[in-house]
Amino acid sequence: MKKILGIVFLSLLTGCLETPKGNLPSISQGEIDMEAERQKRITYTKYINQMSLVKEIGYKINYSNAEICNKVDYASAITYANKYSLGEKKAKFFPTELNLSSKISIINIVKNSPAEKSGLQLGDKILQIGDYEFPEGKNALKKISKFFSKIEKQELDKIKIERNGQIRTFEFKKDKICDYPIILTQDNIVNAFADGKKIIMTQGIVDYAKDNNEIALIVGHEIAHNDRGHIDAKKKNTLVMGSVGFILDMMTIYYSGGTSGGNAENTEMWSKIGSEAFSVDFEKDADYGGVYYAVRAGYDISNANAFWERMGAANPKSIAFNSSHPATAERYLQIRKTVDEINKKNAQGLALIPNEKNDLKIDEKPTEKKKKKFNIKNVFKKKT
Ligand SMILES: [Zn+2]
Repeated sequence: MKKILGIVFLSLLTGCLETPKGNLPSISQGEIDMEAERQKRITYTKYINQMSLVKEIGYKINYSNAEICNKVDYASAITYANKYSLGEKKAKFFPTELNLSSKISIINIVKNSPAEKSGLQLGDKILQIGDYEFPEGKNALKKISKFFSKIEKQELDKIKIERNGQIRTFEFKKDKICDYPIILTQDNIVNAFADGKKIIMTQGIVDYAKDNNEIALIVGHEIAHNDRGHIDAKKKNTLVMGSVGFILDMMTIYYSGGTSGGNAENTEMWSKIGSEAFSVDFEKDADYGGVYYAVRAGYDISNANAFWERMGAANPKSIAFNSSHPATAERYLQIRKTVDEINKKNAQGLALIPNEKNDLKIDEKPTEKKKKKFNIKNVFKKKT
């Protein structure tokens, strides 16, 4: 009997717990839908703003290091997309000034770049670049990327656009910069990644960074992975082999100049990439080069070691960045000494160029690389 009473009591108790007490104000479905839309607008506006920020910082670093990079090319500093490349359902939530439709429009221009100075604006619909007439519609970006992947980048850009029903043409001379474009994905995971050609950053890592100097350190570090040949040297890298779909997808995004439709589904992929990416030796080498790239672009590196320490220590293990970028006492000290080295060079009026070993272990063909590096001006000549 006691037992039965107990059960009755328990069920009464749980019964009470299942019923909320408050007499809440009523909400209609219409209100919920409107609020959901408003929040989506905020989400995509934030994405566009962060994309603009990382592209600006990336451009600045790529530009400031053109003289010491192994790979340089002309960059237009504009990003374009249409509603299909951003996702037909999502497109209406992006800022209206981007003018998204089935035609290709400019969704970002790097501040102070030749493109911006020429007078091009956000939302301009691109009708033609050079002699190439832009297609529109679902596969427009694929066609455009295919076209531009086959031809050599030109120093001069001549872009025909439509703005408020008027057709105008702008011409500008592109900057020659390190050829490592920055892609921002809409993932919450804190990660940044280099694949040998580009830098991929998540919104999560941009959120994590306290200021532009920290973003610059991340970008510099990833550029160093690319420019210092870490990917080539580690040929059987599982991350590249194991995620071809992802890499191709990202390349599409890069060539299209559009953005990724990244989401939670990518989280697993990010973890994989994060845990497989680089050895600690490569990480240290990227730290070293990265600090130089950032300071050469005018960023404040005085907190570099504290930043990497925070990055390593504060994240739970599940965050991919932690496993690919382990914080070790050695790394911490090495970054601090790199900052000291740079400060010393600054004080002595020396050029801020990373000290390089002649026989870098990670370099499979040291002579060829060295030759390439010192003949960089010849590379310019060849192309012009
Ligand atoms: Zn790294």
